[in-house]
Amino acid sequence: MAIERTLSIIKPDAVAKNVIGQIYSRFEAAGLKVIAARMVHLSEQQAGQFYAVHKERPFFKDLVSFMTSGPVMIQALEGENAIARNRELMGATDPKKADKGTIRADFADSIDANAVHGSDAAETAAVEIAFFFAGMNVHSR
Ligand code: UDP
Repeated sequence: MAIERTLSIIKPDAVAKNVIGQIYSRFEAAGLKVIAARMVHLSEQQAGQFYAVHKERPFFKDLVSFMTSGPVMIQALEGENAIARNRELMGATDPKKADKGTIRADFADSIDANAVHGSDAAETAAVEIAFFFAGMNVHSR
């Protein structure tokens, strides 16, 4: 199986709930290693740019407003099949539809305040990791 990297964000709702450690424990239990991390209070410009693919969607304005409502914890994760594995840990976008025991089922309140972001493909993972960690140390281990 391929060793991959993915970009994960613990969103403002989950940071406010003080569950960063509980979410990190799930990454670790699934064999995903944190290889870079930073806490950021995103600007509107950063959030808008990060979610540019959704800019024509009706929820875009609310999404940017939510993502800038408080600090987020951003990490690059590395491990076997890291992209799909992290998506499995996260659960469906809508926490009501997320499988039992997933991060969103356990910590998210709604489809917009849904606790975590995870890259959905290798190309987006590379772009998203560069978006937040370009020029910084990323510690493959
Ligand atoms: N989102 C929303 N309303 C929707 C669909 C999506 O607020 O009806 C937000 C939600 O925070 C989601 C993000 O937009 O996580 C990106 O949507 P995507 O479909 O890429 O879901 P994800 O990959 O995060 O599961």
